[in-house]
Amino acid sequence: MTSTAKKSRRGSGKKKDRAPERFGDAEELYGIDAWGKGFFSVSDDGNLLVHPTRERDRAIELLSVVEEAATRGIPAPMVVRFPQILASSVRELNEAFARAIKEYEYDGEYRGVFPIKVNQKKVVVREIIEAGRKYGYGLEAGSKPELLAALSQELGHECLITTNGYKDEAFIRLALNGVKLGKKVILTLEKVSELERILDVAKKRGVRPLIGMRAKLYARGSGKWAKSGGESAKFGLTTTEMLAAVEILKSRKMLDCLVMLHFHIGSQITDIRKIKDAIREAGRVYAKLHRIGVEVAYLNLGGGLGVDYDGSKTSFDASMNYTVQEYANDVVYNVKSICEDEKVPVPNLVTESGRAVTAYHSVLVTNVLDVADKIEQDKTVTLDGDENHVVRELYDVFKGVTAKNVRESYHDALQYKEELFTLFSLGYVSLEDRSKGEILFWDVCDKIRRHLKTLKEIPEEFEDLEQMLSDKYVLNFSVFQSVPDVWAIDQLFPILPIHRLREKPTEIATLADITCDSDGKIEKFIDLRDIKEFLPLHSFKRSHPYYLAICLVGAYQDVLGDLHNLFGEIHEVLAAVDEDGRTRILDLLPGETCERVLSYMNYERNELVEGIWKQLRRAVDKELVKEGEAKSIAKDFEVALAHYTYLED
Ligand SMILES: *Cc1c(COP(=O)(O)O)cnc(C)c1O
Repeated sequence: MTSTAKKSRRGSGKKKDRAPERFGDAEELYGIDAWGKGFFSVSDDGNLLVHPTRERDRAIELLSVVEEAATRGIPAPMVVRFPQILASSVRELNEAFARAIKEYEYDGEYRGVFPIKVNQKKVVVREIIEAGRKYGYGLEAGSKPELLAALSQELGHECLITTNGYKDEAFIRLALNGVKLGKKVILTLEKVSELERILDVAKKRGVRPLIGMRAKLYARGSGKWAKSGGESAKFGLTTTEMLAAVEILKSRKMLDCLVMLHFHIGSQITDIRKIKDAIREAGRVYAKLHRIGVEVAYLNLGGGLGVDYDGSKTSFDASMNYTVQEYANDVVYNVKSICEDEKVPVPNLVTESGRAVTAYHSVLVTNVLDVADKIEQDKTVTLDGDENHVVRELYDVFKGVTAKNVRESYHDALQYKEELFTLFSLGYVSLEDRSKGEILFWDVCDKIRRHLKTLKEIPEEFEDLEQMLSDKYVLNFSVFQSVPDVWAIDQLFPILPIHRLREKPTEIATLADITCDSDGKIEKFIDLRDIKEFLPLHSFKRSHPYYLAICLVGAYQDVLGDLHNLFGEIHEVLAAVDEDGRTRILDLLPGETCERVLSYMNYERNELVEGIWKQLRRAVDKELVKEGEAKSIAKDFEVALAHYTYLED
């Protein structure tokens, strides 16, 4: 596939096809080394490689996995999961804290927990538990179903299960039963009013509860979740409320049940200074509580550890200006120095890092279905002399574009285009002339764009031009189901082809999905300095499958997705690399069928089939269809019910 000669559709059309030069810049063009964290690279023959253990010589070629899955009945779109990446991420986090604890001679332990809400899939949770076993890594649950999932897992006795969110009596009972079983299930207070309830249930069950307090910090995060922290945050106890909770516990002689101080200032904290501010404030709260006799064993710093989606290492929303090790160092160092200052023993440290642990482990692979040209460029315009004068003006502008007059030409073209449409509305321009004028306008833009390519920096006034000239690549997936954060919060993910990466991309594109929603699109892409308005891609021919990967989708995307247009969950493939560097497909999990997604909307299969049959019988009676045709129509209907919701050919 990589050696096919390519001709730019936008070229003069006169160039002879010849073997393309080997393209050596895919890594830079798509920023792979910047955001890939050692998990991704490009092979000599231009395929995207995944290194789940981060060892260069052990790689999985994504294209082979996709092709293998397809031959086994699981075609794109699919999510490819790499459990070994989860294990690598769990190890990285725990070892970063272990190193910091050693380096700063911190006299406490790190007991991280994985917040299940970030990805509740069983394979994900199981792999994290296994990888975290030797570190005493636990779980965090925010609802009854999540708590049920967490309690059913075999965790070591040193592991924590922390709980957040509002709780009813059943929730509290579940947690207390966990404590009875010897598990460290901590009920975190979001409101003081929850305390009496917990104490009452605990008394009835004869269990001493483990209680945490979520503090409302003055410090805030940065980036999109800045409002999760600060004084107006939804959750957490004010200083007054914390002191009130302490009084209640004291009066019941249960102060020793208060074991954890918690805070969470939001997800994807892009700026390390915000993290330091929060740690310092929370560290002080911990220390001051200690000094008035409230000795909590754990300080829980919540989530917020970021992911560098664009690889820019900046405090931009899609990035972070620190590493996991710097995060661990800052937590350990700051808590230790505050405790020394306040002369209190250090707490054990807990974090609830979800995004950083899961983001890298999965890749969404989808195939291009079609390219919708934004503009028709294949036609050339010849003038016959009878055209309206604006068309002739546009023709002259087109002929006259040079590197030196791009700005002037662009302004002229814009002005004549405007005039063309005005004259058309007034009845002075024929459809043929309007068409010629439109083609000439885009030809001018295209010529300008080629001149701009030779400039180091593209002047601001031309930024729209690139996007105007881009093509729309239609992808076999739903933004709403598979990358909901693209739609909901303008999240950026790295996107690139999984093959042909040694072939120079000749097209610039934006992406559209197959939902009928105009929001089902991706028009913002990662860039080291900026946000790109388009993605460089290769030319597409229907006869050759062209696959794109949306990377780093392992956090939140699996579960926040919805059934817009009734596009359901996509196929899943679990892949690993063995000791000898061979690829192993561990499991293939079929995505949802039409029948399944319809059942969520309360359409039962029988009812649907009966519905079609009723109409068929009537049609047969009226002799609109023959008996045999009716059977085959019903069969098509039933077959489609059992099919994938996405396009299959
Ligand atoms: C969502 C959440 C987390 C996870 O945050 P990340 O930024 O994904 O690490 C942790 N703790 C609480 C309380 C949360 O609500």
